[in-house]
Amino acid sequence: MKYDVIIVGAGPAGSSAAYYLAAAGRKVLVLEKETFPRYKACAGGISIKALPLLDFDWQGVVEAKPRTLVFFYRSNQSFKVEWKEPMVYMVMRDRFDSLLADRAKKAGAEIKFGNPVEGVFIDPGSISVKTKTGFSYRASYVLGADGANSRVARSLNLLKNRRFGTAVAVEIQHDRGFGNHQEIRVDCGLVPKGICWQFPKTGQTSTGACTFRQGVNIYDGIDRFLTREGMEKKIILRKGHRLPADGGERKRLTAYRAMLLGDAGGLVDPLTGEGIYYALKSSFLAARAIIEKNTPDQVTALYQESIFRELFPELHAASRLTALYYRLTGVCFKLVQINPRLARALCDAMCGNFTYQKFIKSFASYISVRRQS
Ligand SMILES: Cc1cc2nc3c(=O)[nH]c(=O)nc-3n(C[C@H](O)[C@H](O)[C@H](O)COP(=O)(O)OP(=O)(O)OC[C@H]3O[C@@H](n4cnc5c(N)ncnc54)[C@H](O)[C@@H]3O)c2cc1C
Repeated sequence: MKYDVIIVGAGPAGSSAAYYLAAAGRKVLVLEKETFPRYKACAGGISIKALPLLDFDWQGVVEAKPRTLVFFYRSNQSFKVEWKEPMVYMVMRDRFDSLLADRAKKAGAEIKFGNPVEGVFIDPGSISVKTKTGFSYRASYVLGADGANSRVARSLNLLKNRRFGTAVAVEIQHDRGFGNHQEIRVDCGLVPKGICWQFPKTGQTSTGACTFRQGVNIYDGIDRFLTREGMEKKIILRKGHRLPADGGERKRLTAYRAMLLGDAGGLVDPLTGEGIYYALKSSFLAARAIIEKNTPDQVTALYQESIFRELFPELHAASRLTALYYRLTGVCFKLVQINPRLARALCDAMCGNFTYQKFIKSFASYISVRRQS
């Protein structure tokens, strides 16, 4: 049987694309290697810029809505930014991803769980996908939404020259008297070229760290962070994962009748590690291209162009800030710490209330005023 679209992976990118396409009447098959609900190493912070893409009732899976961000540098110096409204919504990915997959199913998408894809093959006039369980499926288009280690990208030779960091998620059991469940904490100095974080949830706290430097022992930084927060004895689980590090670089995300979405396409904010928004947005752009255009060339060209136009400028700006920040971490921290307006503008940009492009302009004018005075 031939499908209109086969989607590999049922994370936020895959399930959202499946929903849009099935709702538009396309015959959609999603192949997911895991059985849902499954744990996904992720802090589960969804910034407000993703809200327009979540235009259905998902509040039932929201665990916390923090309004305060506290930044530390090597455990001691700190500053805080507070908002009146929540800037980030906290979810556990097992529940969030299951909700998105159910929504896609209700719209008519067929989802086969426990079906890891082995490779993608180009056929005359179509494209096919082979699973490790020995089945083969054919479609007009394939969407690679299979995460940072994407098989689809590898099969189509689209993973060459890509860069990755390492991230580790650590889930912590908390009891009533534990910590402040309404604030996000980030430490900028404990892991070289990386950060440690603590995100509040209902029955637990998601902590973790990421680094974009090769060969760093990320666990040293996490252990110091957990000890400072008094959480080292309450660990439920630790899980590492690759994190795309080339979000700000222009790269090809399409080949023949295939397109890469979300982490598979390296679409992650290099400053914050935020990828859920980019997964949702790229799924919308890919589905729109398939729905609006008629030929594979037109579809893939529109998708690639939409990514460059709608996502790349912000990812590129985040990448410029990241390069500066990792070169001069202590100096940047101090500058933001002593200037509350700059601190707020940066946090607003990280959450999507403001753009990184505007923040860079404010930062540049702040530096030039300081130089003159
Ligand atoms: C430790 C950590 C913390 C993070 N914290 C945040 C955060 O707080 N906020 C945020 O926005 N982002 C965060 N991210 C990034 C975020 O997790 C990803 O950007 C996001 O999950 C990308 O969604 P996706 O749908 O593209 O891929 P994924 O969520 O990775 O989904 C891919 C799916 O494909 C399936 N799959 C993989 N291979 C195959 C195969 N061969 N065949 C079939 N199926 C396959 C997987 O099982 C999975 O279900 C974090 C990442 C890490 C590692």
